[in-house]
Amino acid sequence: MARRDWIWDGGRASVDLVNTLRDRKTGARELLDDTDALAEWLRLAKLTEHGEVTAKHLDAIRGLREAVDRVLRGELADADIAVLNAWAARHHQPPLQLRLTPQREPVAYVPTPEDAVASALGAVAVDAIELLLESPTVRICAAETCGLRFVDRSPARNRQWCSMARCGNRAKARQHYARRKTT
Ligand SMILES: [Zn+2]
Repeated sequence: MARRDWIWDGGRASVDLVNTLRDRKTGARELLDDTDALAEWLRLAKLTEHGEVTAKHLDAIRGLREAVDRVLRGELADADIAVLNAWAARHHQPPLQLRLTPQREPVAYVPTPEDAVASALGAVAVDAIELLLESPTVRICAAETCGLRFVDRSPARNRQWCSMARCGNRAKARQHYARRKTT
């Protein structure tokens, strides 16, 4: 069971990470507020279930998160790019191994990286770099109080809401109500 109201509508791990600082338009709410929260986020984001999350990792990911946000919004500051590159360099993908079950069936085995948490943070940095190079449209939800980021993959590149269920329907209901009031 997740303890926090994580949202996974960003479309990419790096954008989902940015969205762990919630309500950015209205003062901001930190969801990565302790090491347990970060361990949970890394597990639910399918980045790693291994390694001990420390206060240093927590500090690091908050810094990485804000660098990712600025870079994906097109602010390409040298300092932020250095942060992304430094973390990307710590991503370590151990080579795939072949193992046999007791019945001698072949199965894949992927060893856990030595510093699994740092490697997972690195994976998020790599994701952000790849996303930037794919030149996608990263948008900020149009709802007044939302501020969530998402990758716009709509054909016309005109998606407005982080999710229809959350902000889209609310906005439609408001428009409907406003129309009814004027007629
Ligand atoms: Zn929204």
